[in-house]
Amino acid sequence: MSITADIIQKDSKYSVPVAARPDFVLARGEGVTVFDTDGNAYTDWVAGIAVNALGYGDAELQAAVTAQMDTGLIHVSGLYHTQPMVELAQTLCDMSFAGKAYFCNSGAEAVEGALKFARKHAYVNERVNKTKVLSFSDAFHGRTMGALAVTPKPKYQTPFKPMVPGAVLGEFNSIDSARELIDADTVAVIIEPIQGEGGINVASAEFMQALRTQCDEHDAALIFDEVQCGLGRTGDMWAHSIAGISPDIMVLAKPLAGGLPIGAILVTDEIASAMSPGDHGSTFSGGAVVMQAAQVVVNRIANDGFLEHVREVGEYLLERLSELNSPHIVDVRGRGLMAGIELDIAPGGIVQAGYEHGLLLVSSGSNVIRFVPPLIIQKAHVDELIDKLTQILETIDDGD
Ligand SMILES: *Cc1c(COP(=O)(O)O)cnc(C)c1O
Repeated sequence: MSITADIIQKDSKYSVPVAARPDFVLARGEGVTVFDTDGNAYTDWVAGIAVNALGYGDAELQAAVTAQMDTGLIHVSGLYHTQPMVELAQTLCDMSFAGKAYFCNSGAEAVEGALKFARKHAYVNERVNKTKVLSFSDAFHGRTMGALAVTPKPKYQTPFKPMVPGAVLGEFNSIDSARELIDADTVAVIIEPIQGEGGINVASAEFMQALRTQCDEHDAALIFDEVQCGLGRTGDMWAHSIAGISPDIMVLAKPLAGGLPIGAILVTDEIASAMSPGDHGSTFSGGAVVMQAAQVVVNRIANDGFLEHVREVGEYLLERLSELNSPHIVDVRGRGLMAGIELDIAPGGIVQAGYEHGLLLVSSGSNVIRFVPPLIIQKAHVDELIDKLTQILETIDDGD
């Protein structure tokens, strides 16, 4: 049996079957390209689900991780001070609204923490009736129990009921819905400025501003989930900055440590003032190797020219995707290097055909192909993508 077939067979025997994986095995990566065990190359429009912002094999990232390994300190736990953690907290606060940062290990864990921080803030202010958390249609905030409760997708929730109580569902981009649902019992409102898993839906500036106003009026914490859309993906450091307002809490994860597991909760000093030692924590919080990796990623994104590159290639991507000529394309949308094409057919066939054309593609929602490549991708890769998508769409159209 070939190595490839052997690995695929063992995966089905030994891995819990929560993912349907294609029939190749990835072995290495370079730049924006990954290679399988048979030597086939794929241009990566997925980036480990919007994670690998600097692509594969970034020399500076590797050097930073190696240098930290060489100190012998991979991990000491949050019981002790380390320099890399404090430096990353300062960097993230300096470049955002936040006064303080807390580190964890994933997006869902950051959302869990954010919900707890909001509740503790209400609690210390003796607002014990505040237990409602408003989230919006097509939101995705993660799969742990608290994050799942604000992720209103029946397929994800139904088998795991009962959900954590208090979750209230509003309509995305509906100011009326937000006005109706945010009240004195609301402890937090959580929203993705651009929905990733839900189909690349862009929150309007007016909607985010209205949420800010309603939260201020009713003493609720506004939480921006920038796990997928944040850290330069839209061509701005933060996707919410187009609205000209700030949240009380922002959660980050996916790209932050260049592929190592991390989550971050950024908060105002006001929210942080409600937290005391022992209120929250995680064994792996702020591990030194992960912090060093994140410092490289954040510095690179903040560096001269990086966001301009994202904006330029992102605009080109949207422009070229809009030129695609297929009766199955219903809409093209997004911002920066976070784009989607909505189809009137299920996207699975196009994703599968992508593999045969040397492309990694991923769907989003039920009928959208999403493009969230490494942020270092170039216009030439966009041209390659469009050529291949044109061919793929032609065969799919002919197949009808
Ligand atoms: C992926 C994602 C999460 C969950 O992150 P995990 O690291 O998978 O737990 C939360 N919110 C958004 C917006 C995401 O895209």
